Amino acid sequence: MKCTLLLIKEYSIYITLSYYLEGQHLASAYFALTKVSTIHERFKHVAHEEYCKCLDAICKDESVDSREHVSYSNKISIDFEQTKEAYKSKDTLELLRSLVVFKLCSYDILVDKNKEIMNLSRKLLGQNMFEQFMKMTFYGQFVAGEDHQSIRPVVQKNQAYGVGAVLDYSVEEDLSQEEAERKEMESCMSASEKESPGEYVHHFFSDHREKKFTAHRKFGDRREGVTSARTYFYADEAKCDQHMETFLKCIKASGGSSEDGFSAIKMTALGRPQFLLQFSEVLVKWRRFFSFLAAKQGKDGVEVLEQKLDLEQLQTCLARLGAQGNIQSCFSDGRLHSSGMVDMLDWNRLIDERTKISDLLVVPNLQTGELEPLLSKFTEEEERQMKRMLQRLDVLAKHAVENGVRLMVDAEQTYFQPAISRLTVEMKRIFNRDKAVVFNTYQCYLKEAFDNVSMDVELSRREGWCFGAKLVRGAYMYQERSRAAEIGYDDPINPDYESTNRMYHRCLDYVLEEIEQNKKANVMVASHNIDTVKHTLRRMNEMGLAPTDKKVYFGQLLGMCDQISFPLAQAGFPVYKYVPYGPVNEVIPYLSRRAQENRGIMKGVQMERELLWKELMRRLTSGEVFYTPAV
Ligand SMILES: Cc1cc2nc3c(=O)[nH]c(=O)nc-3n(C[C@H](O)[C@H](O)[C@H](O)COP(=O)(O)OP(=O)(O)OC[C@H]3O[C@@H](n4cnc5c(N)ncnc54)[C@H](O)[C@@H]3O)c2cc1C
Repeated sequence: MKCTLLLIKEYSIYITLSYYLEGQHLASAYFALTKVSTIHERFKHVAHEEYCKCLDAICKDESVDSREHVSYSNKISIDFEQTKEAYKSKDTLELLRSLVVFKLCSYDILVDKNKEIMNLSRKLLGQNMFEQFMKMTFYGQFVAGEDHQSIRPVVQKNQAYGVGAVLDYSVEEDLSQEEAERKEMESCMSASEKESPGEYVHHFFSDHREKKFTAHRKFGDRREGVTSARTYFYADEAKCDQHMETFLKCIKASGGSSEDGFSAIKMTALGRPQFLLQFSEVLVKWRRFFSFLAAKQGKDGVEVLEQKLDLEQLQTCLARLGAQGNIQSCFSDGRLHSSGMVDMLDWNRLIDERTKISDLLVVPNLQTGELEPLLSKFTEEEERQMKRMLQRLDVLAKHAVENGVRLMVDAEQTYFQPAISRLTVEMKRIFNRDKAVVFNTYQCYLKEAFDNVSMDVELSRREGWCFGAKLVRGAYMYQERSRAAEIGYDDPINPDYESTNRMYHRCLDYVLEEIEQNKKANVMVASHNIDTVKHTLRRMNEMGLAPTDKKVYFGQLLGMCDQISFPLAQAGFPVYKYVPYGPVNEVIPYLSRRAQENRGIMKGVQMERELLWKELMRRLTSGEVFYTPAV
């Protein structure tokens, strides 16, 4: 009885909150409140066990008719507005909490000032009450718990409804902007740059550095303008080891909680970003040199994989440019295509030895064709740091294989991304021989997204490993654009949202076709966009791909778009939620970003709120207000 009263108290709090927040639903809220007490009256004489039996019966009924809307003929057909199915894993309190949270996110002032408001609330309420409040609202909605133990109920409940977890430890240092900028500048500059920062641009070796791939204090705080992703700042090697330990624990927990689980990692957590910056620059310049040579052979404007250079002409061209030794000797050692033609993939293979990357910090000079050092050599300490980063990646990938977990490498800023992608491909070569263990992330808001996807797919075909990709639109758009505009290089992002959508669907179609032809590839459609999800289903129907082939996965964040995740899982798709966890105080930056991303103006969020109301009303009118999900 005490329990029921407590329950009613909680319902009343949420309903009263919804009442104040949702003026247009005033009548419904009143109705809800009266209905709660009527239902309580109905149940209060029923013995506890009988009550449980009633719930069991309801749940069983539901599991039977819930399947009705998923057609199991050859075609996949899912009704994303069937709210009973979508929210089957949620009790009514959770529905109310979602409504309250999404409504709060629709107030610009609350979202813009969320940090100040949270700090003030902590002072006014005291730590305990504040934590309680957060758990009843934002934290409860978007975060699974404080540690591996406490997240289990959420992970297991989702699992029971076919939705897996990508564990994502979300604790973030609450650095001030100045601290973040200082850390970034320190960790992105080499020892030689630090020695003479004033002369930096005139330094012999630095003359070859590009603005995009050097640290800029104004953009040192990489958290600025990012709503979807967390940011790591380099402190020291011990901190990177600590991050690796955390990722190892995540992998272990993923392995323990489900079959075929995923764990997400970010490379900036695992080493000094200076290495990622410099290696990215080398890769980009290397690729650009190829395009320059392709243009010389009249292959300008052709799709990247179609740019095939005649080796003889290439050598003549390089000789004319005055290239000596290095580049030409690379071609004569027989590592390139036997056809006498060289394409971008052959070219890229020239940079292929993981352990000798520092030797490769040389770039071709477009005027002379000669290889020149990008920087004076790494110091011994920098060299060690770079190798430790590669070792950490190895440790994580091996641990993932041992625990039957897949490793999802998140995508980050474009000045790190070429190196991140390249290192991920190196891991795939080793660990994706039999199945896709390592997944790379491709950001489709990038103008070069299709080239990146198609080149990696082609490489996997040639080398015989399994391609694994997560496709996202991209989380760093505002930051990327303002950095490019301010510093003066080409904006890497598609000109508008529509072109990003087209790019996403083009990349997705390409990977789906690869899956159709060669069942080795895997893709995760990581998006909250219902049109993209429907596009995937339509293309799969056209190609005759089935959800149960387990080649096409879907990914959403915990607390968002359950109306997409759960029906997909019911239809047999592998669906995963990114599951963040960590103590309340330490995930505040994460919560702050969730508030930004769920602003009421977003089309998807509005739809989610409508569906939540629809389900709430359905439960109230059908007497299912005390519905308890079966686990
Ligand atoms: C499971 C999961 C994992 C993720 N992992 C990563 C990751 O590793 N790296 C990463 O960067 N992001 C990641 N994201 C975030 C993702 O990139 C998007 O920011 C977020 O999901 C919103 O995109 P959407 O497709 O869900 O929805 P939508 O609302 O349809 O798309 C919003 C996105 O469209 C793009 N866009 C909007 N306006 C424009 C414009 N004018 N011009 C060009 N593009 C525009 C932006 O990328 C914006 O974020 C992940 C998201 C999920 C769900």
